[in-house]
Amino acid sequence: MSLTMMSCVNKPEQWQSEQFDGKTFNNQATSLNDGSENMANIFYRFMFEDRKQRVPQQALPMQPLDLQLWQQSQQDLVARLGHSSVLLKLDGGFWLTDPVFSKRASPVQWAGPKRFHQPPVTLEQLPELTAIVISHDHYDHLDKHSVLALADKTERFIAPLGVGQRLIDWGVPADKVTELDWWQEYQHAGVTVAATPAQHFSGRSLRDRNQTLWASFVLQGQQSKVFFSGDGGYFGGFKEIGERYGPFDLTLMETGAYDESWASVHMLPEQSVQAHLDVRGEVLLPIHNSTFNLAFHPWQEPLQRVQHQAERSGVSLWIPMIGETRTIGGAYSNNSWWEQSAETLTQLTAVDGNS
Ligand code: ZN
Ligand code: ZN
Repeated sequence: MSLTMMSCVNKPEQWQSEQFDGKTFNNQATSLNDGSENMANIFYRFMFEDRKQRVPQQALPMQPLDLQLWQQSQQDLVARLGHSSVLLKLDGGFWLTDPVFSKRASPVQWAGPKRFHQPPVTLEQLPELTAIVISHDHYDHLDKHSVLALADKTERFIAPLGVGQRLIDWGVPADKVTELDWWQEYQHAGVTVAATPAQHFSGRSLRDRNQTLWASFVLQGQQSKVFFSGDGGYFGGFKEIGERYGPFDLTLMETGAYDESWASVHMLPEQSVQAHLDVRGEVLLPIHNSTFNLAFHPWQEPLQRVQHQAERSGVSLWIPMIGETRTIGGAYSNNSWWEQSAETLTQLTAVDGNS
């Protein structure tokens, strides 16, 4: 059942969520291969696998965000700021997903995965925001520094159950925060936001696993409808989302940080294409790659594999440079910027003699 919620954040004892068992949140599937079974093997690979190509050997091509275009355009727009941070213009308002502007996706800034590129716009340069949508509390999606820097600039934060309370604990005013359970809807500035299921997990320390909910989101404005996957493995929920809310003009689909060892909580690129088809997407924009590498695969591999699969499946794929702006539903082209980097990378490796 869909509910239209007023803005509010409830205490856990008031949650009526089917996903919450009184202690932790749970996925629809009961047993998942999330990598925790074979931690020893993963640690071994972490120590000994060749990880040279996990990060680019040269600066990524990118475009500074065209702020004038963003302010003046009457159309709905989209640009990737990095990882799963995507700026959208919907019905004249600015919407931002999972803002991460910090140097590292980590509890501390002296260790942990370091970003490959600067954001194409600074926190200070960002325009006033209508809302920030947060998918879950992992460090590569929920960045305390960015949240606090944007708290005055955004009208509203929208997050799954339990995640909003984290923001309030950090000092964000409670009246700016809306928490949603799966299938709950919220209207703000003419846009309908629905939290939808995802097959993932949560936590920011060793002691708080699955204490907060994870979700994907539907953003439906007057002109366009966008699906934001958040993080998650491939599951039957995508079809249901497609039945209830599809078709979508644009899908922001997780494509990166995957591994066969944890495929149930992060999709393989071929599954990202299938998820796009399941939700009935028009254009697929792969996110969760090219900013932090959180897995063993080479950094370009998600883009190469998703491109290959999209061609086989006849799916329209747009892989923008970081910062590149496009009208949602408008024309677009791909310049294979990641392959140009790959060639340079191969040359560098050859010169090194370490191919
Ligand atoms: Zn995650
Ligand atoms: Zn993630």
